[in-house]
Amino acid sequence: MIKEDISREKSAELYEKARQYFPGGVNSPVRAFKSVFGTPLFIRKGDGCYLWDADGNQFIDFCCSWGPLILGHNHPSVRESVVQAIQNGMSFGAPTMLENQLAELILTHNKLVEKIRFVSSGTEAVMSAIRLARGYTGRDKILKFEGCYHGHADSLLVKAGSGLVTLGETSSAGIPAAFANETIVAPLNDREAVQEAFHTFSGQIAAVIIEGIPANNGLLIQDKDYIDFLREITSANGTLLIFDEVITGFRLGFEGAAAYYDIRPDILTYGKIIGGGMPVGMYGASAAIMSSISPEGPVYQAGTLSGNPVAMAAGLAQLSELLQPGFYDELNRKTAGFTGSIQSFLTERGYPCKLYVIGSIFWIAFSELEIKKAGDIDPASMERFRVLHRELLNRGVYFGPSGYEVGFISAAHTPAVLETAKQAIFDSFDVVFSS
Ligand SMILES: *Cc1c(COP(=O)(O)O)cnc(C)c1O
Repeated sequence: MIKEDISREKSAELYEKARQYFPGGVNSPVRAFKSVFGTPLFIRKGDGCYLWDADGNQFIDFCCSWGPLILGHNHPSVRESVVQAIQNGMSFGAPTMLENQLAELILTHNKLVEKIRFVSSGTEAVMSAIRLARGYTGRDKILKFEGCYHGHADSLLVKAGSGLVTLGETSSAGIPAAFANETIVAPLNDREAVQEAFHTFSGQIAAVIIEGIPANNGLLIQDKDYIDFLREITSANGTLLIFDEVITGFRLGFEGAAAYYDIRPDILTYGKIIGGGMPVGMYGASAAIMSSISPEGPVYQAGTLSGNPVAMAAGLAQLSELLQPGFYDELNRKTAGFTGSIQSFLTERGYPCKLYVIGSIFWIAFSELEIKKAGDIDPASMERFRVLHRELLNRGVYFGPSGYEVGFISAAHTPAVLETAKQAIFDSFDVVFSS
């Protein structure tokens, strides 16, 4: 049964104000409720797996700040670590011991990188990794996949033109066509397209970049053979393989998707979880490749707030928790149980939906057909998500406001909470498919 709308008066008022200050009323477009009902909820507070909005509504949160909050909101050890760091000042523009500590923690447990550089966002990490790949190889072109998001750097806001493999077309105004011409776009899960690109642009491709598990446009889980194929063809052509692990890093396990696929990319990028909710990104590679970065080498990259002590303290506290024995096993088991029973419910009812799940990431596809690349997603199916989103909010469950976005389970989602959420999800699906 359709549930009565919760009160959203205060959020609506705040949104009206925000529209006077910010384009579209938000500071990042994914926050706008453009593809769901209503206007954005303004969040007042988060604790554990719960969020509270300006009207005092409480939600079980499956957005988790789009991934960073693997321990949930306001985790005591992260909070205390931040408070302690703040007492010594918030930024120095000079090295601190905290940077060494976080680096040591990461490098001890992540054997895929030998040297790293901290930056302040995922976008910055990827943008720098691309520059590094170009500087190291002396080549200009990069190959990306349709449906993979790598942040908003110019050369990556590029979508496929027509044809199997094409030079990209910009997917944002303000990007010179000349930049897009340096980016080749290929569909995921398609060997021929990549082979053709290497044939057409022989000796020109600096790097192939792929999300560890593409999770920004649905959850497009690739087969291991395909990833192995990418590793082989890049190595054979003197091209670097960049794994963008901004979502998957520290999420699928401490060593992310690269460990899941048992593969060694040349450059890896991280963000989201690494900062414990503070703005941190990182890129890393072998010591040889990283020696190209300034001040050691000729590839320039810098940041006033890079390695910020407060952000390092948050990252240190969060990543330390992830290293507790059994952390990922428990989180992944909980997710499998939760999503498995939702899938059973959908199947029993004959609702044409399929859940894609990996680690503690899940995505609801409004189709029973196998989805492995961006082109497999039917945009018309997003109408159903709109209804689902409204019904979930009205039942106290918060999902990101787009059907292309994945959901996340955190360590703070207890089995009891997941039971409650499941019931709300079942009831919401009944509404979606009753109309
Ligand atoms: C979120 C994301 C980015 C961009 O990170 P920001 O911190 O938003 O700049 C890049 N790559 C992937 C795979 C992401 O999920």
